[in-house]
Amino acid sequence: MEKNLRVDGKRLWDSLMEMARIGATEKGGVCRLALTDLDRESRDLFVRWCEEAGCSVTVDGIGNIFARRPGRNGALKPVVTGSHLDSQPTGGKFDGVYGVLAGLEVVRSLNDAGYETEAPIEVAVWTNEEGSRFAPATFGSGAFVGAFDLEKCLETKDIDGKSAREELERIGYLGPEPVGRHPIGAYFEAHIEQGPILEAEDKTIGVVTGGQGQRWYEITVTGQEAHAGPTPMARRRNALVGAARMIELVNRIGFDFQPDACATVGMILNRPNSRNVIPGQVWFTVDLRHPDEARLAGMNDALREGCREIAAAAALDWEIEEIWTLPPTPFDSACVDAVERGAQEAGYSYRRMVSGAGHDALYVSRVAPTGMIFVPCEDGISHNEIENAAPDDLEAGCNVLLAAMLERANVTADEAG
Ligand SMILES: [Zn+2]
Repeated sequence: MEKNLRVDGKRLWDSLMEMARIGATEKGGVCRLALTDLDRESRDLFVRWCEEAGCSVTVDGIGNIFARRPGRNGALKPVVTGSHLDSQPTGGKFDGVYGVLAGLEVVRSLNDAGYETEAPIEVAVWTNEEGSRFAPATFGSGAFVGAFDLEKCLETKDIDGKSAREELERIGYLGPEPVGRHPIGAYFEAHIEQGPILEAEDKTIGVVTGGQGQRWYEITVTGQEAHAGPTPMARRRNALVGAARMIELVNRIGFDFQPDACATVGMILNRPNSRNVIPGQVWFTVDLRHPDEARLAGMNDALREGCREIAAAAALDWEIEEIWTLPPTPFDSACVDAVERGAQEAGYSYRRMVSGAGHDALYVSRVAPTGMIFVPCEDGISHNEIENAAPDDLEAGCNVLLAAMLERANVTADEAG
């Protein structure tokens, strides 16, 4: 019976469009920063829809929401799906919201079919995935799994000095459930790809095998400020020239460690940044990513070794600080297989892939078997008001989510005997 179960793609699309009205921008995107009045409105609408679908709703102490559709066996841990409702200031209609409303559509479809699962089914909304108003990003799921200190997250202040705790309280989502205690038997997250691969290869479903490892650095190059006129070229210690060579090196490392490597310098400060002064100090950031731990370590070595040579050759001092690291996150093979089978059995084209972006699922995978489903987005563009996705693809991803969740609910039941 469950092989014939299908979600209602039009209802999913209509819900997405209705949600997109909250914080709608002129260019067709949304601005719904975490814990603002608009975030409250979107949460309220989600909760209302879930209650109308017969779910019971709980909220934890960092505002994560769990909407539960009971299963036949209440002793089993729920099979959970979800994502986030907050957006970037110039965000799109699908990033995050798709995963939340795809979960709701799974619940609604099960209701339509009168289908009772063994394990309960739940839809989660994770607080502040984007990290635009409050840093760090993904602090709802991060605090949930203990990767971030809960108190620190709650004390985080926005640019106006308002703390996350105050704002959660103000919008009515500082819930009573202890953070991290909510049981999760398995977790699936549907999301737009936010990259160009599926579209370019004309594939409908991305079967996500895990997340890339990331290492973030800050590098300071120090030379000597001097007058741009009287200082002969041979005597200069130009920090910006050294930094330029290092930036070129970072880019080369990205190419040298293909496939799947990414290497980026995104931020740079040049001092004193004056047109007739030889730069004395430059600070810049480096972001290295690779799904394989050993290859990522190789990129780290190449960065440090290369910068050392560049600095020595230009008589510059340099310092490197590794400020953050996230190890590669392989997902649970049974969950990945469940997603793949879901795509296969529905006859959708698919490919396995690694997630380039951070997602709540990467944190949830630390406490529960996890899988993710990607669907294409137009031109691979996201974090942009013009972000777009095709209704058919969104429906396909939701059907795969339904199949994977059903399979997992039964696996859970079997395992529990
Ligand atoms: Zn997202």
